[in-house]
Amino acid sequence: MTTANQTAVAKYKNNFLKEVEANVEEGHWVKMCMQCGVCAGSCPFGPHWEHSPQKIFMMIRAGKREEVLKTDSMWMCTSCYNCMARCPRKLPITHIMHGLANYSYRLGQSPKGQPNQVIAKIFWDNGIKNGRVNELTFSLAMYFKDGFVQGVKNGLAMQGIGLGLMKAKRLNPMEIFGGHTCKDKSGIQKMIAKAREIEDRRRGLT
Ligand code: SF4
Ligand code: SF4
Repeated sequence: MTTANQTAVAKYKNNFLKEVEANVEEGHWVKMCMQCGVCAGSCPFGPHWEHSPQKIFMMIRAGKREEVLKTDSMWMCTSCYNCMARCPRKLPITHIMHGLANYSYRLGQSPKGQPNQVIAKIFWDNGIKNGRVNELTFSLAMYFKDGFVQGVKNGLAMQGIGLGLMKAKRLNPMEIFGGHTCKDKSGIQKMIAKAREIEDRRRGLT
């Protein structure tokens, strides 16, 4: 059965740049890249990534759809904004990198189990539940993401830091029972649902 996403993507079949422009946050900027390489040279993680932003923008224009969507390079961006501050064409590179990561995730193309993707999902799920991130349940979810035994090992390894945070009143064990929530939790959730609906309509998915 063809999904709404597949139908929406089919119309861009032979033009990945157009697809990126229509579906990726700030994607319409990609065509402005003049391949000077300043972003690649400025990125503190550049040498450790498969593809620099400069290369990713070149690959998008060359129609290398699968290679771009499947790489984990976008997931490595730490939002340091070095590239954006230096780009002579003023491309919002950081936002495009996150937009591409989000798009590949929506299409189910992003690398499974990529650590930053896992963190982002746990953070998002935790945050929208109560309208704010609960530090304790977020930390526990991170410790136990690879199973119970590994979770206990992680907890024991980090116990010194945890106790230090509690002593400094930066971590409250009572947060396990829910902790702070925003005043209008259901209002936040409705807002997110509405934003999703608008975005899906914009992309022609509904
Ligand atoms: S610095 Fe800007 S113009 Fe230069 S390669 Fe990077 S994105 Fe393109
Ligand atoms: S914002 Fe991301 S892509 Fe840009 S220099 Fe920093 S880590 Fe690299």
